[in-house]
Amino acid sequence: MIAIHQNKVKVVQSSFSSEIENQREKALKKLKDITKNQFNRVEKDYLISVINLFEESSPVKIIEATPNEIITQIANIGIIPPNSRFYKNGRAKKTLKSFILEALNYTSLRSSFYPNYFRKIGVKTCVYCNSSLTITAKKTSNNGYSAKFDVDHYHSKDKYPFLSISLFNLYPACASCNRAKKNDEIEFELYTELGAKTLKSEYKFKLHPYSKAKYLTTKDSKNIEFTFEEPIYANPNAKTFKDVFHIEGIYQTQNDLIEELIIKSQIYNKSYLKALKSNFSKLSLHPELFKRTLIGNYVEDKNIHKRPMSKLVMDIAKDLDLI
Ligand SMILES: [Zn+2]
Repeated sequence: MIAIHQNKVKVVQSSFSSEIENQREKALKKLKDITKNQFNRVEKDYLISVINLFEESSPVKIIEATPNEIITQIANIGIIPPNSRFYKNGRAKKTLKSFILEALNYTSLRSSFYPNYFRKIGVKTCVYCNSSLTITAKKTSNNGYSAKFDVDHYHSKDKYPFLSISLFNLYPACASCNRAKKNDEIEFELYTELGAKTLKSEYKFKLHPYSKAKYLTTKDSKNIEFTFEEPIYANPNAKTFKDVFHIEGIYQTQNDLIEELIIKSQIYNKSYLKALKSNFSKLSLHPELFKRTLIGNYVEDKNIHKRPMSKLVMDIAKDLDLI
């Protein structure tokens, strides 16, 4: 629901440069192994252009390619040729797409590399719905746990398997949003060059004007209504977050959060807040931390990715003049 500055991401990428170089070398070696299989002319040409992208001499470093460079490569290389034939590999029969995906090793990077990489970028929640974490934990055979990071491929890996490990093509997403999006392309760019987009989200939850009064009279959280506002998309046919991710449906189940905020807005009125601040001045709390403690979540758009539900809670708390 808010963008991250590309420069910030590039700094993190450079701190992982040896791991990324290692990914490139391994991918290149495995991609070259694929050429041993029998492919038709179109598939062979496609595979060669993918291999070229992973060569050390390639002018574009495809794993670190910027969003604009990714668009250029999509235009150059295009969609994977339709899988007209299957090829034998031992006993398994695989398509060219699955050969490429396996060579690039995306599946194993989900548990080995992406959790550390995205922790360093500061993303812990789904960048689409902000209602869930992006980690799923699985029990391992020795009774420990292994964490898998869920990411959505902004440009689908079904169409463009060569972008399956391109870091700017990876959008941390919960399993449910990832499933919902499938191959839909939506008009939300997580990585931006515009500083303003990293400070203010273009999305907003808004409490219905009469909801507070209605709730306080009835004490029934069913009377709490809110809307989710989206930016005006450049493409009038763009799919909306409401359509694709069912944002309002997800958040309607969280009315109790809004209920607590309404009650807090009654208890923590201006004079009580002033008294609290002076009584506990010894704690020397930063104003942001004071507000965060008050509402139980982050209070600035730039921190949305740090905790689930933060966008809803901060927007409604602002509507209620609580922060
Ligand atoms: Zn989600």
